[in-house]
Amino acid sequence: MEKREVIRVHIVDDDPADFLIIDELLQQSARFRFEISHISAWEDARQELIDPQCDLLLLDYFLGKGTARDLLIEARKIHCSVPIVVLTGVESVTLDDEVIELGASDFLPKDGINTALLERTIRHAIQHKRAELALEKMAKRDPLTGLGNRLLFEEILESSLARCKRSGTRLAVLFMDLDRFKEINDSLGHPTGDLLLLLIADRLRSVIRQSDYIARIGGDEFTILIDDLHDAADALSIARKIVQTISLPSAVGGHDLNVSASIGVALFPENGDAPIKLMQKADIALYEAKRLGLNKVQCFTSNLQTQLEKHLHIEKGLRRALEASQFELLLQPKWSLADCKVIGFEALLRWRSENDGLISPQDFIPVAEKTGLIVPVGEWVLRQTLAYLERWNELGLCQYGIAVNVSPLQLKSGQFVDMLQHLLQEMGIAGEGLEVEITEETLLDGYEEDPRVQRDLSRIRELGVKIAIDDFGTGYSSLRYLRQFPADIVKIDKSFVSADQEDLVEPEICRAVVTMAESLGMEVIAEGIETQQQRQQLMDLGCRVGQGYLVSPPVSFDEATRLLLVPAPDKN
Ligand code: C2E
Ligand code: CA
Ligand code: CA
Repeated sequence: MEKREVIRVHIVDDDPADFLIIDELLQQSARFRFEISHISAWEDARQELIDPQCDLLLLDYFLGKGTARDLLIEARKIHCSVPIVVLTGVESVTLDDEVIELGASDFLPKDGINTALLERTIRHAIQHKRAELALEKMAKRDPLTGLGNRLLFEEILESSLARCKRSGTRLAVLFMDLDRFKEINDSLGHPTGDLLLLLIADRLRSVIRQSDYIARIGGDEFTILIDDLHDAADALSIARKIVQTISLPSAVGGHDLNVSASIGVALFPENGDAPIKLMQKADIALYEAKRLGLNKVQCFTSNLQTQLEKHLHIEKGLRRALEASQFELLLQPKWSLADCKVIGFEALLRWRSENDGLISPQDFIPVAEKTGLIVPVGEWVLRQTLAYLERWNELGLCQYGIAVNVSPLQLKSGQFVDMLQHLLQEMGIAGEGLEVEITEETLLDGYEEDPRVQRDLSRIRELGVKIAIDDFGTGYSSLRYLRQFPADIVKIDKSFVSADQEDLVEPEICRAVVTMAESLGMEVIAEGIETQQQRQQLMDLGCRVGQGYLVSPPVSFDEATRLLLVPAPDKN
């Protein structure tokens, strides 16, 4: 009975005579049984790197017209898992150095080889490669779950993609994020959070096949590679199965937790052929899934693609918009419901882009937020607003204030209040002329997470600047949250006021907000008033101030000034 260890060696050599010599030497080995194949074409050797069927590649440095160089470079690029030993010419130290530098495991002088030398070199090369891979794997592991990290995932994805391209098969990249993990982590503590992550990792392992691959790429973010996919629909059904499994009740650290997950899916070849692209698209799909609610699976779609392209396009233009003075700050009057007299304004930003004309803030503010450009843009808005107030002061119109919209990202930047204080001082303007509008969502998100947000809001008020809660009622809050915030004004969102009808859209909600605000000593402003009925009904509910097309759309500074100097005829 033969007990020799089997080692599969592929010899890449375009000279059949050389191949025969080496083959002969290897066959004489008493320690190993070598299974040998001969590869003579460069392209075949390249395929072997992508999908190796051997334990070691023995590569002749001179390959027909080329050298082993390109093959070694290729091997390194695709992270080939098989060791490569290069056969070099005698007396060529520079060549030896070069192949090692290019990632070869070892080199053998072609002239002096014998069976013992071949055996030893091959065995060492295989052992070294194994140790190297094991170490590398350890460095690319998430210590908590033992799963791979982002680096490893990208590498594995890269080689899977190469294989798919060759075999014409598909694959899917899944981005998964736990819903509300932060809440659990914060309320039950990190050790419980860690236990939950371990449980999730186990559940993921139980759902996917051996050939698939999971990594943990962030706190509660996992990526899953579904290899060898037959049908795009299979990716979705696997994602749904994962979401289902995750949402089973989890007994962790003495708590019964109900967690859920959202997943974004990107497919090869449909959504891209590079790891970075697929990851980016799965991430965008995940973002969309989250937007749709909890426990959702979303595929990257042509719609999302269009959105992405639009974003990239806007982003490009936005970077120049400030220097090119393409922003304009309009003012929309706020008026007393009783007599429609203007009592103040809200500053609303417009972008006049050179190629696409006027772009709505609804389209560019989200991009400005994503790219961080909102910070300088927000500073420009504030400066412009203060410049308007300065002009009105000069004209003796100091009783009119202006409200500016402040993005959550401006607050999170941590420099907003300092900047505000500095600008007020620099321009000699009293804080009382200014209001800051912050959306309800910002308050809810920031308030519990970040004590700084609370401190910042108090500091803003100490400057005499009023705080308005914008878009009230559209967040996931309930009225009871209202009392938590140090705010002076509540703005009823326009979706409760106007739609394609003459009447007030949600009179009950409007009534509740007015009653609640009154009991807390807050002012109420109703947005989006378009008809006389809406104005009347709001007045009947006890609301006193409004904003909307009924009296005026946002107008230029000059137009607003004219409105103040020459009041419009009474619309009563
Ligand atoms: P918002 O703060 O809720 O502003 C009110 C929006 O309602 C404005 O849209 C305004 O033009 C529109 N509007 C006013 N009256 C009526 C009406 O009677 N009916 C209807 N249907 N709509 C009315 P706009 O100017 O397109 O701004 C959209 C959003 O963009 C704003 O919503 C605000 O969230 C954001 N935004 C605007 N300017 C700035 C800014 O300088 N900074 C930041 N961070 N966000 C801004
Ligand atoms: Ca607003
Ligand atoms: Ca609003």
